[in-house]
Amino acid sequence: MIPAAVEYTRPSTVDAAIEVLADEDAKVLAGGQSLIPLLRLRLSAPTVLVDLGALADLRGVRQDGDDLVIGAMTTYDAILRDPLVGRYAPLLAAATQTVGDRQVRHLGTIGGSLAHADPAGDLPAVSLALDATMEVTGASGTRSVPATEFFVDYLTTALAPGELLTAVRVPNNRVAQGWALVGVAALCRRDNGNIADIRVALANMAPTPVRATAVETALTGAQAHHTAIIPACDRAAEGTSPADDLSASAGYRRHLACVLTKRAITGCIAGYVDET
Ligand SMILES: Cc1cc2nc3c(=O)[nH]c(=O)nc-3n(C[C@H](O)[C@H](O)[C@H](O)COP(=O)(O)OP(=O)(O)OC[C@H]3O[C@@H](n4cnc5c(N)ncnc54)[C@H](O)[C@@H]3O)c2cc1C
Repeated sequence: MIPAAVEYTRPSTVDAAIEVLADEDAKVLAGGQSLIPLLRLRLSAPTVLVDLGALADLRGVRQDGDDLVIGAMTTYDAILRDPLVGRYAPLLAAATQTVGDRQVRHLGTIGGSLAHADPAGDLPAVSLALDATMEVTGASGTRSVPATEFFVDYLTTALAPGELLTAVRVPNNRVAQGWALVGVAALCRRDNGNIADIRVALANMAPTPVRATAVETALTGAQAHHTAIIPACDRAAEGTSPADDLSASAGYRRHLACVLTKRAITGCIAGYVDET
């Protein structure tokens, strides 16, 4: 369907956008991925559309003290490619990867996703888990709304009429130290459903990094199937001499080596290209 006639404006400052939004029939347009279909179906019929596309201040990710501040007009695609998000909020990157298709990720914005508040949407739940805070600006100034108070009802948020979501503030969830209790690196080459070649290396299971040779021997030439992989991985700690210290017991490290080897090899096989 063709949307009803609507006045269109593309302000160049947040203040100018807020001024137009004072009109109670005005509606914000971000990436249009949810709004345009509603306009076409005439389920939404504003008199003015306020396109935020020219507001460069609302795009991008920056670090502010311990927080990441993500502009409301930052697209899914930009979030996925942002090194700060990858480093400090990998959950956000992982969830964004699964949103829609390339076109939706190229146009859709984090602000649009949160303001739309679709209960099936990915980022509203992620913002709750990340303990995010929404930065909201209106004619009477700026306020912060925790994610726990932002989602009020079906497709309804705590945004008051005339208010704009300008940014999402995400606390840095990265721990300062990330020494592995145990680490596993695996590479494999598959040939016709069998494992033609496999290398598995373990960190922190001996005074030096070591190869899990029992696993490699058991799996070389075996079927690339969990019936072969699981029992082979139970042998990951064979021949190792892990430390027994304040961080973990030797027994726990042996157990972890088996669990992580299973995950690494399963991931390797599932994501197989030529060598993973
Ligand atoms: C084919 C398809 C597949 C999709 N798949 C998924 C999926 O797998 N997972 C998922 O989570 N989502 C999915 N979506 C929805 C998508 O995430 C939308 O992009 C998102 O819901 C809206 O973002 P937008 O930037 O396009 O906002 P718009 O559509 O422009 O706006 C949505 C609503 O939010 C308001 N709004 C937008 N920005 C602001 C702001 N800064 N301040 C105040 N109000 C604002 C608008 O007025 C409108 O009411 C899909 C959409 C499509 C079309």
